[in-house]
Amino acid sequence: MPSFKGIFQGKQKFVTVKAGRIREEAPDGLWTKCERCGGILYKKELTQNLGLCSDCGFHFRLSARERIAVTLDDGNIVEYDDELLTVDPLGFPGYDIKVEGAKQTTGLEEAIITGKGTIDGYPVLAGFMDFSFIGASMGSVVGEKITRLFERAARKRMPVVIFCASGGARMQEGMFSLMQMAKTAAACARLSGTRTLYISVLTNPTTAGVFASFGSLGDIIIAEPGALIGFTGQRVIEETIRQKLPPGFQTAEFALEHGLIDMIVARRDMRKTLGSLLSLHGGRRQDAG
Ligand SMILES: [Zn+2]
Repeated sequence: MPSFKGIFQGKQKFVTVKAGRIREEAPDGLWTKCERCGGILYKKELTQNLGLCSDCGFHFRLSARERIAVTLDDGNIVEYDDELLTVDPLGFPGYDIKVEGAKQTTGLEEAIITGKGTIDGYPVLAGFMDFSFIGASMGSVVGEKITRLFERAARKRMPVVIFCASGGARMQEGMFSLMQMAKTAAACARLSGTRTLYISVLTNPTTAGVFASFGSLGDIIIAEPGALIGFTGQRVIEETIRQKLPPGFQTAEFALEHGLIDMIVARRDMRKTLGSLLSLHGGRRQDAG
């Protein structure tokens, strides 16, 4: 029998694929695919465009550093409490490796950066959560940094803006994680007692323990368009109440329509809107003396 091996040698090593297929197979690296419209976007342009899809306006997630860059004046932040480091209080198997991996991939020490900066000239104490760090789950350090931010703000009577994002509790820290809900909520209440403004900005996704504590306790609650907002996942709720949930349930738009949040602000307008709110609540521009 003659061998067919090698009969196709010399044949072109590429094939023509349809556009739809390219969309599915966009390689990692330089390009990324829009979750909503499927458009292929050049990552560098996406970054320059504040993480917005140039085709449909979809709001991609921003890292904490990216968010600081597009929110605070000149991207400047004086960081607080960056010396707080996560420990493994329960000796949970693999937790230390997971934390170390998250540190390596994000370049952060934990899932939130807190500090002081200005927005459109108005001084604020601010927090920026990063979903890439173990789903921005709230462990002891995240809770402690938030709490200290509120306490500092209460002492200084300075407004607070927190960009929230979270998949929920840091299950590897067990009860230490869950108690951060009560701790941050109590600190938020003490801040409120000093009549100091707190604005929470819910980004995609803000769920579970973060939503059920400081995320939903803002004097003004803003969300980004299309953000997933809620406590428990849709499937769990449906199975519990044995009812089908309405379309769009747990989106920012649904939450606004049902009075859960105060406003939806597109990322392009976020800085200006926050500046106006700070001004309306007695903020004094730093450059105005
Ligand atoms: Zn798109």
